[in-house]
Amino acid sequence: MDTVSIRDLKKEMKKSMDDSRYEHTLGVMYTSAALAMRYGYDIDRAQLAGLLHDCAKCMPNAKKLKTAEKNGLEISELERKNPFMLHAKVGELLARKKYDIDDEEVLGAIRWHTTGRPNMSLLEKIVYVADYIEPKREKAPNLKEVRQLAFINLDQALLKILEDTLGYLGDSEDVDTMTKATYDFYKRDQKDELPE
Ligand code: FE
Ligand code: FE
Repeated sequence: MDTVSIRDLKKEMKKSMDDSRYEHTLGVMYTSAALAMRYGYDIDRAQLAGLLHDCAKCMPNAKKLKTAEKNGLEISELERKNPFMLHAKVGELLARKKYDIDDEEVLGAIRWHTTGRPNMSLLEKIVYVADYIEPKREKAPNLKEVRQLAFINLDQALLKILEDTLGYLGDSEDVDTMTKATYDFYKRDQKDELPE
């Protein structure tokens, strides 16, 4: 990915988003770059994933549903009731078809940025965490702590975010089963790492 296409895609994003979503997008792009520096990941790929992670967010909900249906994406009952939840899946599709991205790691980071998944790739973790801690974000619990933790131990930051997300959503039906599965996976993973 050369810098020219990042520049072009920035213009595309600006066109398709409202101002606050675009600002959030730039925040996630640069925060992903910073985390890539810290954890030794390719900076351009991290920026690209951050830039495109919400590329379907400003599409009207009805159109999200229609696009998902037309392209044979699986739609859960929860997503049918809350089509905004589809923006990650539809975002992957747009990135592939409309923006010509064929980097599967970048596509995966877009696909899993809302729920995470068990056994995430480094880039998936980077974008998931960046989405939560970027400078414009202000309404999440424990932001100060998570922001510091993100640059100390990425897995611990990830787990904390999942924990807070589940805590925030509580037992409501709006908890995506994948978020819970991701939490369980990393909870177990970190227990295994504790010294005897
Ligand atoms: Fe999103
Ligand atoms: Fe986002």
